[in-house]
Amino acid sequence: MKHRIVVLGAGYAGAFAAGNLARRLSPADAEITVVNAAPVFVERMRLHQLATGQDVASRELSDVFAGTGVRLRVARVTGLDPERRSVCVTGEDGDAELAYDTLLYALGSSVDHHGVPGAAEHAFDVTGRDSALRLRERLAGLDAGGSVLVVGEGLTGIESVTEFAESRPDLSVALAARGELGAWLSPGARRHLRRAFDRLGVTVHEHTRVEAVEPTRVITADGTSLPADVTVWSAGFAVHPLAAASGLEVTETGRIVVDRTMRSVSHPDVYAAGDSAHAIGDNGRPLPMSCASAGVTNMQATAAIVARLTGREVPTTGLKYYGNHISLGRRDAIFQMVDGDVRSKSWYLGGRTAARLKAGVLKGAGWGIAHPTFGVPKRRRRLTAVLAPSDVGSAA
Ligand SMILES: Cc1cc2nc3c(=O)[nH]c(=O)nc-3n(C[C@H](O)[C@H](O)[C@H](O)COP(=O)(O)OP(=O)(O)OC[C@H]3O[C@@H](n4cnc5c(N)ncnc54)[C@H](O)[C@@H]3O)c2cc1C
Repeated sequence: MKHRIVVLGAGYAGAFAAGNLARRLSPADAEITVVNAAPVFVERMRLHQLATGQDVASRELSDVFAGTGVRLRVARVTGLDPERRSVCVTGEDGDAELAYDTLLYALGSSVDHHGVPGAAEHAFDVTGRDSALRLRERLAGLDAGGSVLVVGEGLTGIESVTEFAESRPDLSVALAARGELGAWLSPGARRHLRRAFDRLGVTVHEHTRVEAVEPTRVITADGTSLPADVTVWSAGFAVHPLAAASGLEVTETGRIVVDRTMRSVSHPDVYAAGDSAHAIGDNGRPLPMSCASAGVTNMQATAAIVARLTGREVPTTGLKYYGNHISLGRRDAIFQMVDGDVRSKSWYLGGRTAARLKAGVLKGAGWGIAHPTFGVPKRRRRLTAVLAPSDVGSAA
């Protein structure tokens, strides 16, 4: 019987990992199935662009995996039983159970409303394709002079608010920041950011905690009411509760705790990559949820899976985080390098060059997904014949 590898999620981490595994393991021994809720690859890094009406190409996953040997199952994962090594899915064919010998969990993340009253009901977000499309429709129907308030001064909040202001100068666009805008940036990058906000006419409400969201306004901790015909919630990402419910060891926030090889510390035949994994980087700190982390964690996970299944020594690949690349509309951006303690270095790159570089990064990431086997040596190793699933779990 073939060794069944199931990859949950075909985002930045899962799509690349599935193609990579197919390239490196013999199809005579291994069967690779990827399960994804949507039939297309969603470029999450462009969803704020999608929300403003820009054309963002979506790729059919069936095209992405054509000729790779990867089986695609378009279905929603609804349950996981790591003791029985099975996954429950629901799709067009109804409910089904998939058995696996090795699982790679890469379901990513979605919006985190932090339980703020009204946020789930009234706020929009750009963390998923469907929600970004809902926002796109709402923004398109908003008349000149309407107000848009983005809640959250993280990377996605900054990218979103500048994109909205640039594409809709006729609207009144604001950002509610719990702290100081760009406090984590180097002084030069912070000044650059403030200049960009001024140029785009974005109002910033600093030290402002939103405590309730209503249809046309938000209420802050000191009782102030801020107008918001459209509130865009951008105050953090949350992972799917499925991993925690399954009994896998997870952090307080539900991310799967993995070792240096991205293997679950509680269930050795489960690996995790991308936003759903709590992985410690080479600097000893948790890797942030990001596309860059999805890249390095899926590389490490696939290297470990291939090595263990083919009886080779498990290699360690780099788990580094170099910095943040923040778009400020289509013509401006900031690239801020960080040091080993994730403190911003004094050097940063800003302006059109940084914007062009960011456009190149986005294009490269999209191209990498469309060609998931490019650059991976085609070796198609045979699996160690005697390896039973239980041995795989305990192998070093
Ligand atoms: C607007 C925006 C801008 C961003 N910009 C940047 C940036 O500039 N740089 C950067 O590094 N990061 C950025 N990020 C973060 C980055 O997109 C994520 O960290 C990255 O997508 C994580 O990759 P992943 O593969 O773990 O998850 P995802 O890319 O989210 O993929 C998860 C996949 O799993 C599928 N899935 C989820 N639940 C289920 C289920 N129950 N059943 C079946 N399938 C399911 C989803 O459909 C998706 O295909 C941005 C995010 C957003 C929202």
